[in-house]
Amino acid sequence: MTSSPNADATPEAFQGNGERFCLFGNPVAQSLSPVMHNAAFAKMGLNALYRAFRVEDAPEAVRMMRELGIRGASVTLPFKETVIALLDEVEQGARQIGAVNTIVNRDGRLSGYNTDGSGLVRDLAEWLPIRGKTFIILGAGGAARAAVFALLQGGGIPVVVNRTPGRAQALADRFGCRWSPLPEIARLHADCLINATPSGMFPETDRTPLEGKLLGRFPHVMDMIYNPAKTRLLREAEAAGCAVRSGLGMFVQQGAEQIRLWTGIEPPRDLMRRAVLERLGENGGD
Ligand code: NAP
Repeated sequence: MTSSPNADATPEAFQGNGERFCLFGNPVAQSLSPVMHNAAFAKMGLNALYRAFRVEDAPEAVRMMRELGIRGASVTLPFKETVIALLDEVEQGARQIGAVNTIVNRDGRLSGYNTDGSGLVRDLAEWLPIRGKTFIILGAGGAARAAVFALLQGGGIPVVVNRTPGRAQALADRFGCRWSPLPEIARLHADCLINATPSGMFPETDRTPLEGKLLGRFPHVMDMIYNPAKTRLLREAEAAGCAVRSGLGMFVQQGAEQIRLWTGIEPPRDLMRRAVLERLGENGGD
C-alpha cells in the first residue's frame, strides 16, 4: 500500500480519534476526492479525515478497511468491479451496474453501493429533463454502465456507442437498450451526448473521443471528465453551438451521495463544488 501526495505517509499516520474515510485506487495521486470530502467534513463539524491510498489489489483495500476500522471508502479504478466479491452485501443497483464506488462499514459489515449513476442523473436533471430524452453514452466501461442504469431509471433513453463495438453491444444487452458502433454516430440524433471515456482528460488534453464536426447535431454535450473543466470535446461542442457541461457537477453529486451513505447527514454540496474548483484553479487544471 502506498499513500498518495493527498495522504499521510503511512497507514499508521492515519490513526487518530476521529472517523476515518478513504479512497482506494491505483493511481490516486490525481484525485480531488480528499479535497472535496475533507472540506465537507470540516463544514459539517465532523471529526473526520479522508485520505487517498494507492493499493495493489482489492483484497488489500478491504483488509485495510476492516483492520483500521475505516468507516467509509470511495473505490476507483481499477477496483470498482473486483471489490464486489469481497463485500458482505452489495446494494441492488450497484450489483446491476456491476461496479461499486462506495463502501459503508457498519460495525465491521461492509456494504457496497454505486453513486456514479445517481450523481450523474442528479446533476443532469438540473440542466435538462431526462424522461423521454435520448442520450448517447460514449464509452462502455464502468461509468457508462452506471450512466445507462441511472438514465433508464430516470425514464431516459440511452444509446451506447463505443470504440469496441462488442463492448457496446454487451452493455446494451445487459440493460436492454440500443447501441451503435462508433462510425455510425454521424447518423444518430440525440438530445444529449455524454462522454464516458477518459479521452481528453488531464494531462492528455489535446485528445478528444469524437471529431468536432460531428457534434453540432447534439443540443447538449456533457463530458464526465472534470479536469480540465473544459475539455477539447466541450470546446469544440461549444463552437458547434451545443450547450455544454463538465463532469464537475457529477463528481460533486456522487461524492455528496457517498457522504450521505456514510453519515446519514446531508453534505454542503455548494461548498464541495467550490473546494474542487479552487483546487482545479490552483493546478491550472482548466
Ligand atoms: P473504463 O472502465 O476504463 O472505460 C473506458 C471506456 O472508454 C471504454 O469503453 C473505452 O473503449 C473507452 N475509451 C478509452 N479511451 C478511448 C479513446 N481514446 N477513444 C474512444 N474511446 C475510448 O473507465 P470508466 O471508469 O468507465 O471512466 C470513464 C471516464 O469517466 C473517465 O474519464 C473517468 O474519470 C470518468 N468518470 C467521471 C466521474 C465523475 O464523477 N465526473 C465518475 C466516474 C467516471 P474500449 O471499450 O474500446 O476500450
